[in-house]
This record gives sequence, C-alpha cells and structure tokens, in this order.
Amino acid sequence: MEIDDIDTIAVLGAGNMGHGIAEVAALAGYSVNLRDINEEFVQDGYEQIEWSLGKLAENDRITDDDADAALDAITPLVSMEEAVGDVDVIIEAVPEQMSIKQDVYGEVEEYARADTIIASNTSSLSITDLSEVTERESQFCGMHFFNPPVRMQLVEVISGAHTDDSTLDAIEALAEDFGKTPVRVRKDTPGFIVNRILVPLMNETCWLVSEDESTIAEIDATTKYDVGLPMGAFELGDQVGNDVTYHVLEYMNDVLGDAYEPAPLLETVMDEERFGKKTGEGFYDYENGDGVDIPTDAGSDEIKQQLLATMANEVGNLVGQGVAPPEDIDQAVQLGAGYPEGPAKLTDAAGLESLVELLDERYEATGAERYAVSDGLREHADAGGFYDDDDAEEGIEYDAVRVEYPGEMVGQIVLDRPHRMNTVSPQLLEELEHAIETLEDDDDVRSILLTGAGDKAFSAGADVQAMAANADPLEAIQLSRTGQQAFGTLEESDLPVVAGIDGYCLGGGMELATCADMRVATERSTFGQPELDLGLLPGWGGTQRLQKIIGQGRAKEVILTAEQYDTETMAGYGFVNDVVDNDELEDAAFELAADLAAGPPVATRFTKKAMLRGWEDVDAGLEIESQAFGHLISTDDLMEGITAFMGDGDPEFEGK
Ligand code: NAD
Repeated sequence: MEIDDIDTIAVLGAGNMGHGIAEVAALAGYSVNLRDINEEFVQDGYEQIEWSLGKLAENDRITDDDADAALDAITPLVSMEEAVGDVDVIIEAVPEQMSIKQDVYGEVEEYARADTIIASNTSSLSITDLSEVTERESQFCGMHFFNPPVRMQLVEVISGAHTDDSTLDAIEALAEDFGKTPVRVRKDTPGFIVNRILVPLMNETCWLVSEDESTIAEIDATTKYDVGLPMGAFELGDQVGNDVTYHVLEYMNDVLGDAYEPAPLLETVMDEERFGKKTGEGFYDYENGDGVDIPTDAGSDEIKQQLLATMANEVGNLVGQGVAPPEDIDQAVQLGAGYPEGPAKLTDAAGLESLVELLDERYEATGAERYAVSDGLREHADAGGFYDDDDAEEGIEYDAVRVEYPGEMVGQIVLDRPHRMNTVSPQLLEELEHAIETLEDDDDVRSILLTGAGDKAFSAGADVQAMAANADPLEAIQLSRTGQQAFGTLEESDLPVVAGIDGYCLGGGMELATCADMRVATERSTFGQPELDLGLLPGWGGTQRLQKIIGQGRAKEVILTAEQYDTETMAGYGFVNDVVDNDELEDAAFELAADLAAGPPVATRFTKKAMLRGWEDVDAGLEIESQAFGHLISTDDLMEGITAFMGDGDPEFEGK
C-alpha cells in the first residue's frame, strides 16, 4: 500500500496511547475509528481527545474549526467488525501482553481487508512474534509512538523479520504525514532503539548503587549536571515508572541473556511496589519525603565515564547488529528522550578507546556479562569512533549550552550552567553563537527559544570569576566585542527568537534577553543591569539595545540606578511581553515560539531586517521594507496565506 492509498485508520485501544494516536491521526486529516472493549472505555478516550483538542485550540495551536474537524473525524466504536472492516491501516495500542494482542489480532483477521496494514504500538514485544500471530506477516510492523503522542516527535518504525519494505515505507510516510519524525529500526530487537539505550543505562545505575559503588545523589548529579541529560537517571526512572523499566529489562534478559540481569535495587523497588511518581514513591519519596533533590556539586567523573561506557556498549550492539546507524540512534534518543546530544556523539566525544578499556577492566575484575564489550563497540573504537572524522568535525561538543528540538519546528537553546546560575562565560559565548548558527542552518527549525536550565536563573550575568582572568584592558575590550557579536547573532537572526525567563535575568543575562524578539517571564523573575554598581558598564550591547525596547528614559533609569526590578514592572516598561505563572513558563514560552515558527519564514526574516536596520537609519529600513514587499508578492507563501485566510484555515508556510 502506498501513502496516497491511506485514508482511513483504526486505532485499537482507547487508553493512554490509543487516544493520543487517534488524535494525531485525526489532526492530520485521516478518518479514524477508535475502538475499545466497552462503551465506557471508548467514551473515556474520546472525551480525553475532546479535552486535548480544546486545549490546543485554547492555546492557539490549532483553530476551533480544526479541533471540531478532528473530533468529527473520529468514530468511537466497540464493534471490531465496524472498526476494522474497511480501513487502510490498523494501529494497535492494547495492553502490553502477548495473549491480549494475540486475541485482538485473531479478531482483526476475521474482519479486516486483505490489503490492510497492521502496525503495533508495542514498547517491547517482538514484532516478528506478533506478526506471526497474524495472516499478514509482510504487512505487519511496529509503529512505536512516545508518550504523549500529541507532543512527542519520535515514532520508531520497526521491521519484523517478515516485514516488506513497502509496508515500512508506507508507515514511515504515514508517521511523517502525522507531523512526526520516523526513525527506522531495521531489525526487531528488544527495546528497539530508545529503550535499548535507556533501560540498560538505568540498570547499570542501579547496579552501581546496589554494589555500594555510588549513591543515587551522586549518579543523578552526574547524569544531570555532568553528562547534561535532561534529568537524573533515577529521576527519569521514577517518571517513566520502575515497573515499566523492569518489564522491558526482564524481556531483554530473557532474549539477550545475562548482560541484562536486573540489579538488586531494581528488584527491591519492584517488590516494594515503589514504581515511581505514580505510586508516590520510587527511588525518591514524593509523598513523605522531599521528592527529587539533586545536589548540583555531587557529580563524579568516574561515574560519568562508567555510564558513558554502558551507553557506548549498547550503541555498539545496535550499530554492530545492523539495527540502526549511529545518526539514526542519535536522532531517536534526542527526540525520544530529550538528550542534548545523541549517545553515539556523546560517547565519541568521550573517546571510545578509553571506554572500551574501562569495560575490559571491569569485566576482568567482576566477570559480569554486562561489561563484556560488544563487537560493534570494539570495531568502532578501533576505527576511531561511531562517526568517521569528517562527520565529527561538523559539530562542536556543547558544554555550557544545550540544543534541543522540542517539536513544532522550534529549536531551543538552553543556557546550561545551572550550578553557576547560567552565568555567561567565554565558553558559553562561543557555544551560543555556534548553536544559533546551527539552528539557522537547520531547515526543520523556524524559531529559536532561549531558556536557562534549572529554576533559579535565566542567566544571572557574566561569570565574574571567569572574566576576572581578563583584567587586561585590551583583553576586556575584546571580551566586550565577543559578547556584543555573539548576542548580535541572536538579534540579527533570520529566525524569530523568544526568551523564556525564570528567575534572575541580570547584567549580561538581561543583555542577552534584550536580543530576543520577545520575552516571556515568570512572575517571580528579577531583572536588572547592576554593572554600574561594580564600577563597570553593561558591555555586551546593553547601552545600545535596551533603549530600543523600553525607550531611552527607562533604559537610563535601569542602567544608571543599577536597581533590581520585578517582572510586573518590566512588563509595564515593555521589556516583558508576557507574564506567566511560575510553573507555566515552559509551556507558555514554547507555545509562543511554536506560534512564531508557524509564521511565514521569508516575511518574518524581512520584517526583522527592516525593523533592525530602520532603527539606525529610517530610510534604509523603508527601502528594505519596500524591496521585501516586492519580493514577497510573488512567493508561494503569500498564495498559501491568502488561500488560508479566505478559507478560514491555518496556512502552512513553506518558506518559498
Ligand atoms: P492502556 O492500558 O492505557 O490502554 C490500553 C487500552 O486497550 C485500554 O483502554 C483497554 O481497555 C484496551 N483494551 C484492552 N483489551 C483490549 C482489546 N481486546 N481490544 C481493544 N482494546 C483493548 O495502555 P497504554 O499505555 O495505552 O499502552 C498501550 C500499548 O502502547 C502497549 O502496547 C504499550 O506497551 C504501548 N506503549 C505505551 C506507552 C506509554 O507510555 N504508556 C508508550 C509507548 C507504547
């Protein structure tokens, strides 16, 4: 079946995943039959979709008409015959038990057309085994969405041993049409890609604690602040659910052997039903304790190397066994787990040879199978890395910033020095400039969201400690120029830029935020240019750029008094565009960035340019404006915009 032949879809199971998948399919314009085993369950799923569509419309992510149309496209059903009798693709999302899935497929075969494709959303079961329960092994594959499907960009498309390429092509095209990013898993292997990396890593952290080699605090500080992952390993485990991790691991242990033997600590939390956040307690206690509490300074280099070694070993397995090439693994883990860099890049940067050495030593000392080096890892360590040198040279290894892709064509730069209040160091300046350029070069990115890691600061200013090294006047001049230029890259970016501010936004941090096109800030944030109090002046563009936004009178007040200001005042001055509740920054800033990303790229670029140049020279600005007007009049985007406007729909701008 070709993608053009796919119009109707049945989603089996209206639970957590099923209702989300149905919503995504309906939003993409497909006609969807949503089926569950009784009226109440299917109605429940339908109501959740209605709620979610309402939220999307409320936040202007879709129009009310889109929401109505999507809901209209979904038919809630209990009858299997009606649900699958005449559909092109069936996406199965019933509970993760072989026997249930087996029963469901038996029923499906009774009613489905011979050419219908079946795709299972299973997280861990073998696609080959599942396909063999059906009468259409070649038209069966995995289509693994991540939770929640509406938000998560990744879909793993998994080949079973009997799956036809045409089936995989059709399901990949369907995932793309859903607005998702498919990554092909070329061989049916437990955990597919993302879980194959995450689950053994979780298990290794549990082994390290079980064997008293480390502590939960040390490991979470290392994973979060030293490796730079979005969460501590144990924090993530509690979020995902320790029972979920355990079941996937158990399955790996069954199929792949002793290297995946669950650690005693994981057995303990299972026995004690400490499944994580959902049960109130996991590795952390959310009800009677403080919940997650990760010290910023407890990381360990040794633990970092150990965890990278475990990661590298699994990447080696996946690459060596032909499951996926390094770039696909990296893309999947970045999208599915929010890693700032993929595991192949991360471990290449650490040096595969030293990681192999570490594993060899541990294997010799412990005899534990999980330290046996995979063939793929050894081979790539000998070759110098998972990526060859040419690939490696393209990217730089970020340390002070993180680049993320939260979806909706938004590229996010996170100032990532939470232990130092995200203060701006020379290294951060360099990485920031590189990150902006990387996002600008990425055709899939249409707006930039700039935020600070942690909840204390967007950025508390220049890293005075790092700057003190530059006491020499000539070097200080250079430093000022470097900062002006790095921040200028943001101001001059073709892409619209949103700064999401939570906490301190002071000095250099405020100068950076000034270069964004818009600023969203939490109520509790604090602003100021304290440089004059130190006997300095704002040196990264502050004397020039702030007055453009809040006017010269207010800019002089802020800079000359060196006072601190609350968000409400700065909103009154016109610096903050939108004030949000303290826990709403992430959503609100992302929504604004996504909204800007949906705008017409060429017109946005010219508008920014005309306004920026026009500030210095009105005639030059007016000239850019009229030239741009002439240019835009013949673009495809204009036609798209006008057609959508007349039809009252949402335009889909292509930047052409
Ligand atoms: P869930 O329990 O929330 O939903 C399953 C639904 O299937 C329930 O509503 C149930 O009534 C229904 N169901 C049960 N038997 C059925 C049958 N015979 N026919 C039709 N429906 C039936 O589970 P979930 O979390 O949505 O998971 C569904 C699948 O998605 C599983 O294979 C799971 O591994 C996979 N998955 C889950 C997640 C996740 O984070 N929850 C992520 C990716 C994949």
